[in-house]
Amino acid sequence: MTAFANLELRIYWMTLFVSLPAGGVLNTFPTETACREQWIAVRWPSGVRCDKCRSDSVIWMDERDTYRCRDCRRQFSPTTGTILHRSRLPIRTWFRTAEHLIRKIAPRTDLAVPSDRVIGATVGVDHTTAKPMRKTILTDLAPGGCGLFREAICQRPVGPPIDVATNADLHLDWLLSQIDVLDFPSTRLS
Ligand SMILES: [Zn+2]
Repeated sequence: MTAFANLELRIYWMTLFVSLPAGGVLNTFPTETACREQWIAVRWPSGVRCDKCRSDSVIWMDERDTYRCRDCRRQFSPTTGTILHRSRLPIRTWFRTAEHLIRKIAPRTDLAVPSDRVIGATVGVDHTTAKPMRKTILTDLAPGGCGLFREAICQRPVGPPIDVATNADLHLDWLLSQIDVLDFPSTRLS
């Protein structure tokens, strides 16, 4: 990796960091329902559609946590066919894990990823569960990844001064300086 690519990558990760919600993911999305609604809004920004026939004539079946398509009768959940397909973990645990990874990785000069044990201990899952979660989230968050987590939890607008935004070194310095300016009260990591 060239030094320039690394600088760009660090800017990319720090931009994710400073665009995390001020109160932390757990406060911003206090329930699993809130997380699910956010996932749905990000996955279907123009409204829910059947993943088989593309019909928008779908109904939510509360008792089964799934949609049913009125046209082709297919049943599907908000996570069907996405990176969270068949996951049994709450979406909230995924959001929290993505937040943890961004906060830990972004400020580091080498962008090192925390170990599966650290990830697991932080978000309350076994390290063998943390391993595939880490892979899924990092694939999604990477530049060019599908970006569902990025869309879901990195919502705060980030606006460096224009003279800073056009200079990569200054841009990174500005982003790093925002760690102390922005307050993340509930989930501040040591
Ligand atoms: Zn359908």
